[in-house]
Amino acid sequence: MNIIFASSEIYPYAKTGGLADVASALPEELRNEHKVYKVMPLYKLIDRKKYGIVALNKSFDIWLNGLRHQVDIYINKDCEDDIFLYNPVLSDRDGLYFDNYGDFGDNALRFGIFSLAIIQVMYELGLEVDIFHINDWQTSLVALYAKTRFNLTQKIVLTIHNMAYQGIYPKSVVDELEIDWSECFRPESLEYHDNVNFLKAGIYFSDAVTTVSPTYKDEIQTSYYGCTLEDSLKTNNYKLEGILNGISYEDFNPAKDKNLYRNFDSSNLDAKKEHKIKLLQELHMSGEEKPLFIFIGRFTHQKGIDLLISALELLKSHEVNIAILGSGESYYNNIFESLKFKYPNVHITIGYNEAYARRLYGASDFLIMPSFFEPCGLNQMIAYKYGSMPIVTETGGLKDSVSDFTNVDNIINAKGLGISFYEKNQFWFFHAISKAISLYANKTKFNEITKHNMDVDYSWKESSKIYVDLYKKLLG
Ligand code: ADP
Repeated sequence: MNIIFASSEIYPYAKTGGLADVASALPEELRNEHKVYKVMPLYKLIDRKKYGIVALNKSFDIWLNGLRHQVDIYINKDCEDDIFLYNPVLSDRDGLYFDNYGDFGDNALRFGIFSLAIIQVMYELGLEVDIFHINDWQTSLVALYAKTRFNLTQKIVLTIHNMAYQGIYPKSVVDELEIDWSECFRPESLEYHDNVNFLKAGIYFSDAVTTVSPTYKDEIQTSYYGCTLEDSLKTNNYKLEGILNGISYEDFNPAKDKNLYRNFDSSNLDAKKEHKIKLLQELHMSGEEKPLFIFIGRFTHQKGIDLLISALELLKSHEVNIAILGSGESYYNNIFESLKFKYPNVHITIGYNEAYARRLYGASDFLIMPSFFEPCGLNQMIAYKYGSMPIVTETGGLKDSVSDFTNVDNIINAKGLGISFYEKNQFWFFHAISKAISLYANKTKFNEITKHNMDVDYSWKESSKIYVDLYKKLLG
C-alpha cells in the first residue's frame, strides 16, 4: 500500500506534544511493509542542516482568492520519503501554532494552504497514493478538498489526537480558502454556529475516523469529552475506531538514550539509581533514597495542573522530591514561576526541553499524570520503559494502558502497572500519592513492578496492524 501520512508536526523535526511522536513512530512501523510518505510543513525553526533537509528544486503555486501561494518541496536527503513543504505564510513563524502573543491570526489560511499542498504534492511528484492519513484539525481540510474540489478516489483516514482543538474560524475563511459554499458550509460538515470548524469537516468528509485509544472513542460521544462535537461523532460513529497509540523503542530506550547519565534496562536498576543520583545533583536536590515524582507536560487544565499545584503544598512536609517540567497557559506559567523557590523539595522548570525530559523519566520513580481527560497519553508509556511508575486518572488512553497494581493478582500476565484513580479531585489524588509512597517503602514489590513495567510492550507492533487492517477494509 502507498500512504501519505500528513501531520503538522513530526518528531524529531518539530514537536509540541504527542502528535509528533505518533506521526514519527506509526509511519516508521508501517514502512516495514508499505510505502509511507511523511509530509509536514518546513517551519522556519526546523534545523535543515542537522536533519539533512534539502530543496528538491520543485515548486508549485496554490491560488486562493486571487492570491498566489508558492510552495517549495524539500526532502530529507537520507530518507527521501520524508517530504517538507515550505511556504512563507505557513513556515516563517517563531512557533508552530502560536507565539507569546497567542494563536497566529491566520492559522486557518496557513493550514488551508498546507492541506491543499498535501494533495498537490502527490501530483507534483507523481506519487502513487492509496490512502491519505491525516491528523487533527490542521490537516482535516485534506478530506474536504479531496472529496469536493479534487473528487479523489483515495481513501482518507483522520486520526483525532485531541477533541479540545478543532480549528474554529469565522466563515470568511470559506471564501479565503475557496471552499465550495453549497457543498461544504452545511450543519453536518464544515458549518459550526455560523463559523467554520475544520475538525468537524474532517470527521464528515473522511472515510474513517480513528481516536488514539479505544476508551477515548467512547468518551468523545458524550458531552464532556466531545467538546461540543459529540453529536457529529455519534452520527458518524459507524466510521469511528479507537486504536491505542504506541511508542517507538528506537526513540525511547533507556539502554541507549544518549541523554542519560547512565544507561540501564530492567536487569540493571543499579545504573538507574546512579543516573538518579546524578540528576539530583544537577537539580541541587538531596535525598536519593526518597521517591522522585515527576510531571512532564503542557500546563493546561486538561493535564490536571490544578491538582498538581495543590499537591505541592501537601507534599512539602513529605520525604519526597518532585520535579516539574512544562509550559503552557500563562496563568499556569505565572503560578509555577511564583512557586519556583517556595518548596525545597520541588524543582520547577518552565519550558520545553526534550533532553531534560529524558533525564527526568530516567531518574524518576513515579510519573504524575492527573489528567481530566487524556485521549491517549504517551508519557505513561515512556515512563514504563524508563522504570518510572505512572500515577494516573482513569480516563481515555490512561485507562487503556495503566492497571492499578492493587487490582492485579498475577503480575506476570499483566500489562503496565501503575496507580490509578477515578474521581478527579484532591482527595483521591492524594490517596493515590500516598499509595505510591507506601509502595516505595516496600522496595521488593516496587522493584518487581518496575522491572515488569520496563519490559511490557507498548510499541507500535500491534496497533499498526490494526491501522493496516483498516486501510485494507477501506480499499476493499
Ligand atoms: P500531549 O497531550 O501534549 O500530546 P502526550 O502524552 O500525548 O501529551 O505526549 C507528550 C509528549 O511530549 C511526550 O513525548 C512528552 O515527553 C513530551 N513533552 C511534553 N511536555 C514537554 C516538555 N515541556 N519538555 C519536553 N518534552 C515534553
